[in-house]
Amino acid sequence: MNYAIASDIGATNLRVGLVDTKGVLEQKQEYPTPQNDPNEVISLLYKAIERLDFNGKNIAGIGLGVGGLVNFEQGIVEYTPNFSFNNINLKDILTKRFKMPVYVDNDANAAALGEKIYGAGKGTKNLVCLTLGTGIGGGIIINDSLYRGTTSAAGEIGHMTIQTGGPLCGCGNDGDLEALAGGRALDKEAREVAQKHKDSLIFRLAEGKIERVNGALVTKAALQGDELSNELLKEHAKLLAVGLANIVNILDPDIIVLTGGMAEAGNLLLQPAKDILKKRVFADSTRVPKVVYGALGPDAGILGAAALVFEQSVK
Ligand SMILES: [Zn+2]
Repeated sequence: MNYAIASDIGATNLRVGLVDTKGVLEQKQEYPTPQNDPNEVISLLYKAIERLDFNGKNIAGIGLGVGGLVNFEQGIVEYTPNFSFNNINLKDILTKRFKMPVYVDNDANAAALGEKIYGAGKGTKNLVCLTLGTGIGGGIIINDSLYRGTTSAAGEIGHMTIQTGGPLCGCGNDGDLEALAGGRALDKEAREVAQKHKDSLIFRLAEGKIERVNGALVTKAALQGDELSNELLKEHAKLLAVGLANIVNILDPDIIVLTGGMAEAGNLLLQPAKDILKKRVFADSTRVPKVVYGALGPDAGILGAAALVFEQSVK
């Protein structure tokens, strides 16, 4: 069994590919994720998998990482906050159609496994992966295994509250890490700053249109040396570091891997976050683990979904 069919289903994109045991991704396909109708997501998945040419190849199974709360044991996608796909037994549906083993997990868990086996976390034992996109997802690996918790809901690092009374999170809480340090939070801060500073580079890059101002433009401006944008990223890094310090104090991992769109900010985000983390970690700053960006880019999820298949099929 030397190949897995793998899929990464996020709120924005649905990716499908064929991955070998060494982590080489072949025949990658990418589609916009249908937003409102779960049946459309399923039909698209069928179509994409059937388009793969796996004739003559040994397929160990199908692995999927989905952006939401997933019951791994039963293969049920219970809740997806950013597109409509709730309470769907994806494992049953795909097993019936393709007659092979199917494993479904949360996308950040898949990314954690991908980075651990094929990426920045190779050779580590205890790894925490944070996906820094619109929101913040998390995957925890302890002693070489994914830690899923009692009800498959562990690792929701983005929903750790770090400031009661803070901004409202998509989950309904106030002051969660995601609401303060996620991509959507940076978009909002960027708009506030651009509104106040009409002569700023951020506002100019948005061609004077406030609705075009977002976190990606902040990164772009900061990389061009814009002081205002750099300050915004530093503030953002400070909040992220509070989350990182909490993770280190609870789990004491070897490594924290950051993936997702915000990795574009490179050291402008990472360095201040690391500096503050060092100050906040309990008792001894020598206990600070390595904090790095992922090595797999947007393929972390799909490679992780494949790793899930290979990991489960040897059990
Ligand atoms: Zn939340």
